[in-house]
Amino acid sequence: MRRMIIAGNWKMYKTLEETLVFFDELSSWEKDFRHENQILIFPPNLYTMSCLEKTRGNDIDIGVQNIYFKDFGAYTGEISPPMLTSIGCKYALVGHSERRHIFAENDEEINRKILSLLKHKKHIVFCVGEKENEREDGYTEQVLTNQLRYGLGDVGEKDMQQITIAYEPVWAIGTGKTATPEIAQDAHAFIRNWLKDNYSSHVANKARILYGGSVKVANCEGLLIQPDIDGALIGGASLKINDFIEIIKKGEEVANRKDQ
Ligand code: PEP
Repeated sequence: MRRMIIAGNWKMYKTLEETLVFFDELSSWEKDFRHENQILIFPPNLYTMSCLEKTRGNDIDIGVQNIYFKDFGAYTGEISPPMLTSIGCKYALVGHSERRHIFAENDEEINRKILSLLKHKKHIVFCVGEKENEREDGYTEQVLTNQLRYGLGDVGEKDMQQITIAYEPVWAIGTGKTATPEIAQDAHAFIRNWLKDNYSSHVANKARILYGGSVKVANCEGLLIQPDIDGALIGGASLKINDFIEIIKKGEEVANRKDQ
């Protein structure tokens, strides 16, 4: 049984004050809620230390939304894996579609980020996903194959323990157009199979693959119950405390059902 993850990606939303209020509410609720699933939030990088502070003593993990692959140097505006170590942050998101498409990050840079994070023993949520026209033209599997092959270049079998994959079809991110559970399950099964063919059955069975793309309270159950979906990476709905808590609760119910 793979431990599911309910993760939130806040992108560039919330002031510090709003962030602290959210974590006050989430932390006090979480203290009384027994959960098997992992809860992981990627707030804006600027607030990482405050969020780590706020969640100390809770079973809530905090990560950054992006890093640069060099350790230190003249790279204005960037942060690095050793800096994460210095503040006690263990998680990073890599290859989000907004990084790929707005900031023109390519597979080679994404791979360098992954290798750098692995060198510094971080856990990585590595995002892949096709654009709408790529799906319509029948290239989904080709796109996923390329993103996996190049993004995971030189990543060894043992390192795969540190990597969670997030399948996030670009056409579903922030659009309200969620993939149907069947479409999502097919893509997840394809990714798991790719891991089996390119690593081993062990890696494929252990790997956690999250779905992301307009996940909400109303649709999360149908997605999370799919056999190859091991959790969700949630943008918009993770910003609202009540919605995020509801999704965590539904995730817990689904995990119990999958366990039986
Ligand atoms: C995301 O930012 O990774 C995401 C999936 O966003 P949303 O849930 O808003 O579609």
